[in-house]
Amino acid sequence: MDDATRMVHAAKAKGNSPHAVNPPVVRASTVLFPDITTMRDYRQRRTTGERLFSYGARGTPSSMALEDALCELEQGDRAFLYPSGLAALGAVFLAYTRPGDHVAIIDTAYPPVRRLAENYFKPRGVEVSFFPPETEALRDVMRPNTRLVLAECPGSNSFDMIDVPAMAAIARKHGALLAVDNTWSAGVFFKPLQHGADISIQAATKYICGHSDVMMGAVVTREAAYRPIFDLNSDFGICVSPDDCYTALRGLRSLKSRLETHERSALKIARWLEQRSDVATVLHPALESFAGHELWQRDFTGSSGLFAFRLAAPLNKRSDEFVDALSLFGIGASWGGYESLALPLSLGSTTLSTADEVVIRLHIGLESVDDLIQDIASAFGTIGRDGVTGAT
Ligand SMILES: *Cc1c(COP(=O)(O)O)cnc(C)c1O
Repeated sequence: MDDATRMVHAAKAKGNSPHAVNPPVVRASTVLFPDITTMRDYRQRRTTGERLFSYGARGTPSSMALEDALCELEQGDRAFLYPSGLAALGAVFLAYTRPGDHVAIIDTAYPPVRRLAENYFKPRGVEVSFFPPETEALRDVMRPNTRLVLAECPGSNSFDMIDVPAMAAIARKHGALLAVDNTWSAGVFFKPLQHGADISIQAATKYICGHSDVMMGAVVTREAAYRPIFDLNSDFGICVSPDDCYTALRGLRSLKSRLETHERSALKIARWLEQRSDVATVLHPALESFAGHELWQRDFTGSSGLFAFRLAAPLNKRSDEFVDALSLFGIGASWGGYESLALPLSLGSTTLSTADEVVIRLHIGLESVDDLIQDIASAFGTIGRDGVTGAT
C-alpha cells in the first residue's frame, strides 16, 4: 500500500458502535485498575518491554496511536516520542552509549548535535568522532568500542547525500548501531530501516506536524534495537502531551499530499534558480547536477521542500539583503510547515571544504509556486539593481 493510504488508515479509532473517526485525546496521570492483581500484572508485563496504558508517563492511548502510525510510516517495530527533535537525538545518544564507548557522528548532522556531544557526552566519558559525509571516512573513524553511528541524509544545510546501506554494513561489522536523522524525507521519501539502519529519528516538529505549531521528536527502531530506548523513556519519565500527539497524528493524515506539493514546487523553483546567471549553485538532491544525485535516485522515492542555493559572486556578499527583500518568505528557525521560509546560513559549523560559504536555505511551502517565483525574482531585482549603483 502507498503511504498516502497507510497514513489515512493507520491507528484509526475502532469499534462497532458509532464513534468518532479519530482516536480521542486521553489526558491522564493516574490510571485506575480494578484490583491489585491486575495492577501487579500490568507492572510485571511492563518490565518485559510491553507497552501498556498503566500510568500517564508510560504512554496514553493518544501517544500509542501516534506511535503505531509512525511505525507504519517508517516501517519499524517500535516508536518513541520526545518533546522536540533535538530531545530525540539526545535520547538516542543517552540510551545507546555508556562511558568508554565511542560514537561516530557525521559532519553534516543537525548542528546543535555538536553541543550535545561536546557539553554532555564527551565530559561523561563517551568518545566522539566526527566524519565527513563519505563511506570511506566512516570506515576510517570506526574503533573497536564504537557503539553508535549517527548519520543524516541528506545532511543539514549542505544536503550531502550518503550511502546509507554501505554505512549500515560498516556499523554492523563493528557491532555498532546506525541511527539516521530522517527529518528531510519526513519518512515518506526514505525509509532508513529498510536500508539497513537500526534507528530512524525525526523532528516531527517539521513535516509530520506540518503547521508550525507543535514541537515533537520521534524515534523509530527495529525490534532488535528498541530495549535501551524503551528503558530510557520509562527511567527518565519522558512523555509527550496527548494534545500534541493528537495534532501530530492529524498531521500524518495529510503528510503525503502536502509533501507532493512541497516537492513539486521546490523542484520547480530549484530548476528555475539553476538557470539564472546570478546563482552559483543549487543544492538539491533531486537535481541531476547535484553531486549526490545518484544516491538520492537509488534510495529515495522523492524530495521534500527544503533546499539551498548560493548567489553568484559578487552578489553572494548580499545574501542577507536578498532574504530581507523577499516578502512571501518568513524569516525564522525550523521548517516543514505550510509556509515558505528563507534563511542565509553559513556552513561553518561543519568541517566541510565549503565551510566559509553562505548559502540561502529555502523551505518551499504550500503557496502558489508562481507567486513564490515572482517574489524571488523581485528580490533578485532589488539586490541586482542596488548592486549596480550601491557599494558592497
Ligand atoms: C529541526 C531539526 C531537528 C531538531 O528538531 P526540533 O524539533 O526543532 O528540536 C533535528 N534534526 C533535523 C535534521 C532538523 O532539521
